[in-house]
Amino acid sequence: MSLYSVKMRASKNAHHVSGAERILNQEDLPQAVSCLTQRALHHSLGTADFINFKVEALAEAEVKHLPALPVSTRPCTTIAESFALMTSLLKELNLAEPVKLVELLRSTHPMRGAILYDVATNKQLEPDPERGIRVTYMDAAGAGCSSSGKNHFREALVLATKVVNTPGMLAELCMSDDPDYVTGYLASLKHGYTRLTPLKSVGDPHGGRVFIFDSRLGDPAQAIHFLEKEPVLVDGLPIEAPALPDPEAPFAEALAQLKQKSLYRSMRTMTSEQARHSTVNTKPMLLMSSNSYLDLTADPRVKAAAVEAAQAWGAGSGGSRLTTGNTLLAEQLENKLAQLKGKEAALLFNTGYMANLGIISALADKESVIFSDELNHASIIDGCRLSRARLVVYKHNDMQDLEAKIKQTPCSKGLIVSDAVFSMDGDILNLPDFVALGEKYHLLTMVDEAHATGVIGATGKGIVEHYGNKYAPNLIMGTLSKALGSEGGFVCASRVLREYLINKARSFIFSTAQCPAALAAAHKAIEIIEAEPERVRALQQNVLYFCSCLKELGIEASSPTAIIPLVVGDEARALAVAKELEEKGVLIPAIRYPTVPKGTARLRIALMATHTQAELKHTAELIKQALEHHQ
Ligand SMILES: *Cc1c(COP(=O)(O)O)cnc(C)c1O
Repeated sequence: MSLYSVKMRASKNAHHVSGAERILNQEDLPQAVSCLTQRALHHSLGTADFINFKVEALAEAEVKHLPALPVSTRPCTTIAESFALMTSLLKELNLAEPVKLVELLRSTHPMRGAILYDVATNKQLEPDPERGIRVTYMDAAGAGCSSSGKNHFREALVLATKVVNTPGMLAELCMSDDPDYVTGYLASLKHGYTRLTPLKSVGDPHGGRVFIFDSRLGDPAQAIHFLEKEPVLVDGLPIEAPALPDPEAPFAEALAQLKQKSLYRSMRTMTSEQARHSTVNTKPMLLMSSNSYLDLTADPRVKAAAVEAAQAWGAGSGGSRLTTGNTLLAEQLENKLAQLKGKEAALLFNTGYMANLGIISALADKESVIFSDELNHASIIDGCRLSRARLVVYKHNDMQDLEAKIKQTPCSKGLIVSDAVFSMDGDILNLPDFVALGEKYHLLTMVDEAHATGVIGATGKGIVEHYGNKYAPNLIMGTLSKALGSEGGFVCASRVLREYLINKARSFIFSTAQCPAALAAAHKAIEIIEAEPERVRALQQNVLYFCSCLKELGIEASSPTAIIPLVVGDEARALAVAKELEEKGVLIPAIRYPTVPKGTARLRIALMATHTQAELKHTAELIKQALEHHQ
């Protein structure tokens, strides 16, 4: 029986549209030619105006049979992750520079053939770099022909099987140049045919193919001859690509990875109101990590205000502030906040997170530059991203670095933004220099007082009071959800900026206004803080006392705010310490990456005004024990 090689190449207006090849028996030849013709005439790139067939008889003895590589699929959540996986598979082949090889794959477009890369000499061996190596004379044994189009997977598996069986060949890397086909692969005798997905986004026409060769193990000329001239039939090819797994599978895999790295997050269930003594899963617990610094969420007067407001004003607000959701309650609270922060006006948002998103993305655009502290809260970072402004990150609370970066980045429209109290470190912004730099370089200044309101300053008014009411940033953003014990965000600023934000801040415009209960509760909390400054003093006293307890036990601790970080370092250790404390009835969760940098996992202790000295002393001792138990 004689075998034939059939090759079809079709073009339109001298541009390649489709190509295919078969190795088959004489009696199957007419049907295959007809079928490939159909394909060329009905290609998605257009109807071919030139079709070239080449049909050659092959001597049966020349045809080499190879078993198909085993196939596996490794789905990832992102393109970057797929390439990282490709890199680690190359490492398993003991290749010295896997990153370079992956980069080579990503840069081969638009060459149609493959790069033949020699790891012995670090040179590309393809004789014509424009053309590359074109692997031909191959097919699946017993393959039919379907005119309905290409089966990427089968053709790629045939090719990869031939390639990795070339003497001296270590691996092949491939991504298709078909814009709709985002799955690529790595093939090697060790890994088989490993499908990696996604390697690119849908619509991306980039593709590439790299053969990784070692000229100490095989002769390059012979390898090229094998790839381009010697016929190969691949046996045992699966009919269909194994179905790509369930689209949820990569997410399950990502979760498994997080667990392995001690970075998995889950929620605990509070089974009582938020107060210094709460229950978690019905177990009594001393909360040493709540942001309700003044213990006001549980204050009877605050709760009563919320109840009354719900009775009088209803459960929800029924619309955005610009439609039907603007109540007298909201305006009264804004006036109160403006007065508290010493600004002309204030504007409420649904949460602090939404405030930062809305404010920053409204004030900055593609022409702006935003200077942002490296430890700023995630909501500030997200606001910066959403604005599409150029982002310049300066060293934590380092005003010299900030000034140097401002000088390096002249701009006509700029914003400097910082946490007032840093949420994971508990330190305070250098406001005097911060405001001075804003004035000197004509930049807007904005501070985030989430952890400052009710906490710092002699009467808890925040960072401006803390520095003697001498320095005024343009925008003071804050939240009602921490010391104020309720829920919602706000910004205090000039009337002009308030009006501008009402017109431009999308998180303000396109979201239903806060519910009456939240507004009234926050309003009452501010009145309590004003009437009872001793609450703020008690909180500040507690911090001093607790730090002195820790120091007596040999644990270095200090903080000018209510947040006391104990950096433990390793994520798993931080989790173990936190778990022990929870078992002993004290809740101090471990804070890990990405909330804080990798390897700086910590216990973030947050004190309340109502903690007693006995509770603080006892907690310090439990912490010392837990740290000793988990070295
Ligand atoms: C908590 C926090 C926010 C977000 O406020 P929410 O009202 O909880 O959305 C913003 N910035 C900082 C620094 C925070 O700690």
